[in-house]
Amino acid sequence: MKNTFWNPDREALKRKDLESLQYELLIDTLKRSLYSPFYREKFSSYGIDISDIKDLSDLQKLPFTTKQDLRDWYPYGFLTVSKDQLVRLHVSSGTTGQATAIFYTQRDIETWAELMARCLYMTGARPGDVFQNMTGYGLFTGGLGFHYGAEKLGLLTIPSGAGNSKRQIQLMRDFCTTVIHIIPSYALRLMEIFSELGLDPKKELHLRIAYLGAEPYSEEVRQRVQDFYGVKVYNSYGLSEMNGPGVAFECEFQQGMHVWEDAFIVEVIDPDTLEPLPDGEVGELVLTTISREGMPLIRYRTKDLTRIIPGDCPCGRCHKRIDRIQGRSDDMFIIKGVNIFPIQVEQVLMSIPEVGTNYRIVLKKEKNIDQMIVQVEVTDKVFIEDMRHLQRLQKKIVHELKSEILVTPIVELVEPNKLPRQAGKAQRLFDLRKEG
Ligand code: ADP
Ligand code: ZN
Repeated sequence: MKNTFWNPDREALKRKDLESLQYELLIDTLKRSLYSPFYREKFSSYGIDISDIKDLSDLQKLPFTTKQDLRDWYPYGFLTVSKDQLVRLHVSSGTTGQATAIFYTQRDIETWAELMARCLYMTGARPGDVFQNMTGYGLFTGGLGFHYGAEKLGLLTIPSGAGNSKRQIQLMRDFCTTVIHIIPSYALRLMEIFSELGLDPKKELHLRIAYLGAEPYSEEVRQRVQDFYGVKVYNSYGLSEMNGPGVAFECEFQQGMHVWEDAFIVEVIDPDTLEPLPDGEVGELVLTTISREGMPLIRYRTKDLTRIIPGDCPCGRCHKRIDRIQGRSDDMFIIKGVNIFPIQVEQVLMSIPEVGTNYRIVLKKEKNIDQMIVQVEVTDKVFIEDMRHLQRLQKKIVHELKSEILVTPIVELVEPNKLPRQAGKAQRLFDLRKEG
């Protein structure tokens, strides 16, 4: 499957040519951004003159844009076109607070579909495939983002949306679904439903590719999903502020996710000093849209933590790659002086076969001492075994967590399906310390 480019003019560019294109698109974007009330005010208060941006590295002279700016100038402060040129509105999931609105012109929708079509083609989806899009349609960008890309590529697209698991399985069986898009926590949940129904997707279905994204997940979850469904899992990254999905995607070599650099300029900064970091170092991902018409965003701080992977990808695309997202900077919690990301806990849990598909981390203060409680669903099989076995498992989980996170948590084993689940993205962390 080598050298399979959906759009060779953009995907097979030489680095030098890609950078000249980026510069040209950046200047267009900066000129365009002056039509928006936010950037007009921001650039004038920073005394920015676009003619001072002489090459790509001059991007670093420009101020950052934050989620707070989007909230402060909600809803129309970033528009560079009149409202009658807009054809779509999405609102971010609001995982970390008040939602933000993103607007699209017709051209923006077309560009987004093109980027998504590249992602799907790059990973081997082709006309003839049946694509079941099992993420939320509506304000969340995941559903419609993939939908338009899949139709553009010519896949038979089933807009099944999220939930209604039995019907999902029925659709997969009736129409021989081969490719799915699903958020990781729902992929895990659906595994339980298959087991309850006594169905083995590897025997009953024809799945070969699964796209997983929209929330952080570990390599261990990828492995579980691959083994259970008999698919190859590709990591998909995006955020509403940058259209939605289709910002960065794994190619067939799966050594990081290529950022489509003809649409986004990628930087990684130190979140404390705000200085750019060299490739290879982990920091906050900062993105600039250079192909967006209605609502360009310049040096947008995503709060997502990752690194740029140095070196070339064997696929031949020179578009830079980012590593698996560790989480958002706000996901990190500090307990007993140690910084921890939920995904570190997940990594440990999901590598233990007796652990089921759901877990949560609860932080509490007891007699003024911080406590970390990890509640873990175990598999059906373990739950009917004797107490001694459960105690051994509990000790093993404590021990393995401690060696990863250097803090000894309290581990509570729970029956399958007992922990609450959220519609949409899973909430893993419950910090009750401030509540006393
Ligand atoms: P919200 O920010 O309200 O959740 P979005 O639906 O726009 O709204 O979510 C985008 C966010 O989802 C990203 O900023 C990132 O934190 C997370 N995300 C998306 N894709 C991935 C992925 N493949 N791995 C980890 N996190 C992801
Ligand atoms: Zn590649």
